[in-house]
Amino acid sequence: MPTPTDELALGDDLRAFVDASPSPSHAVAELARRLGAAGFTELAEVDRWQLAPGAAHFVVRRGGSLIAFRVGSAPLASSGMRLVGAHTDSPTFKVRPHNDVRQAGYRLVGVEPYGGALLHTWLDRELTVAGRVALRGGRTALVRLPGAPLRLPSLAIHLDRSVREGLTLDPQRHLVPVWDRDLGTTPGLAEALATAAGVDADDVVGHDLVLADTQPAARAGADGTWIAAPRLDDLACCHSGLTALLAAPAGERTQVLVCNDHEEVGSGSMQGARGSFLADVITRLVAVTDPGDVQAVHRAVARSVLVSADLGHAVHPTRADRHEPAHTPELGGGPVLKLNANQAYATDALGSGWFAERCAEAGVPVQYFVSRADLPCGSTIGPLTATRLGIPTVDVGAPMLAMHSCRELASALDVPLMVGALGACLRD
Ligand SMILES: [Zn+2]
Repeated sequence: MPTPTDELALGDDLRAFVDASPSPSHAVAELARRLGAAGFTELAEVDRWQLAPGAAHFVVRRGGSLIAFRVGSAPLASSGMRLVGAHTDSPTFKVRPHNDVRQAGYRLVGVEPYGGALLHTWLDRELTVAGRVALRGGRTALVRLPGAPLRLPSLAIHLDRSVREGLTLDPQRHLVPVWDRDLGTTPGLAEALATAAGVDADDVVGHDLVLADTQPAARAGADGTWIAAPRLDDLACCHSGLTALLAAPAGERTQVLVCNDHEEVGSGSMQGARGSFLADVITRLVAVTDPGDVQAVHRAVARSVLVSADLGHAVHPTRADRHEPAHTPELGGGPVLKLNANQAYATDALGSGWFAERCAEAGVPVQYFVSRADLPCGSTIGPLTATRLGIPTVDVGAPMLAMHSCRELASALDVPLMVGALGACLRD
């Protein structure tokens, strides 16, 4: 049995975090549960905030985004902040408003792709529906349907031999998960949601629901140090950031964890990184610590560093040709500093040097990632937040394989290394 000091213990805790978080709303609920257990109390955006040095709080916007902070002993304008950012959403499918599809003697559930999923990885898996429903009267409820009620069955090769030249999936026609045979009398998704929420079907007046893989996250690999799981991008960094924040001692500087929704679809929402959530929270923090100083927000932001934490690409065992030959991060090799000449990542000389120094303090190795010159580069909340707030930002992340697959792969050995690195950044 692993002990708390076992180097796999944090990886096991990450697996539990992923299993508890089938949707962004569930991820926020799990973050809130862990923060509450550690003494952080929730603030509402509609209330007036009274903040004392050392106070630890969190605030949730629209169910899918969360910001947690521990107020430092020094005013923000003179000390700045240390922030870790990550995202709560992952590529999936979102349930449509009119979702009761009936064809070929089956009852299916209409869904719409969300983000850049590797579509074929969703075939032949045990799926469920999870997320948030709006109830009559303005209340909400988290729901996750029990069991594995949905499935996207492959077409048998005997019925389409052209699949040997490559599988083409039309999301509108081919990726409609099947619920049941259409017997006319059995309950559909609407009834199942109401039952799961403990209300009448008429009381469910809206929903933000996604498909989720039901197979629990697992130890994998020959020595059991790998983690095979859904949604590691970017729940792994939400988990590492939270773990680092909870372990960090209170200090002079205010420490912040921001977990945004909607990164996989461009971050353009009120709770996404292009929205005002982080700027609003910083403005309110500064209003308390530096009242009446109209320059305080700008001084605080200029003295701060945001570590944008999102998974990076480990070198692929059979497709190493898709990587820049001098930059091939390894699973278990520690945090990856991500750089891009075209600013798809926010990391610059000062930022990468600062992060590498923090890693050295923590005894954590650093790896570097850049894209090949003949391939486009992904992006993160880092450049968006840096552009919006003018906050110095560095893009980092644990290495992984199969990013955006329904079932991704990372190393449990990288979890304590990420937590150590992010902890050193928050303590700086
Ligand atoms: Zn990501």
